[in-house]
Amino acid sequence: MPRRRDPYDRMMFLIFGVTPRERVLTVVAFVCEHCGTHATQHVIESASRLSSFFIPLLALSRRYFVVCSNCGGTTALTKDQAMHGVEWASHHREVS
Ligand SMILES: [Zn+2]
Repeated sequence: MPRRRDPYDRMMFLIFGVTPRERVLTVVAFVCEHCGTHATQHVIESASRLSSFFIPLLALSRRYFVVCSNCGGTTALTKDQAMHGVEWASHHREVS
C-alpha cells in the first residue's frame, strides 16, 4: 500500500513584508503654521514598500509632508507641492 504523502512535505515559505521608508527630499525655511517661527522645515517623502525576502518589490503608497525643526509640527503635502519645494530649494542654492 503506497504511503500517503504528507501535504506539508513541499511547503514553501514566502516571506513578505511591508517596509516603511522615509527620506528627506530637501530642507527649506519658512514661517511655520504651527508655531509661527521662521524655522527650517524638512520636506519628507514616506513610502511603504512591499518586499519579499527583504528585497523591495514595489511601492504601495507614498505621502509627503513637512516637519518643522522648531516645534515638530507636520503638515501634509501633495506630491506637486513637495516637488515644487525641491525645485525651489535647488534653484535657491544655485543663486546663493
Ligand atoms: Zn513649528
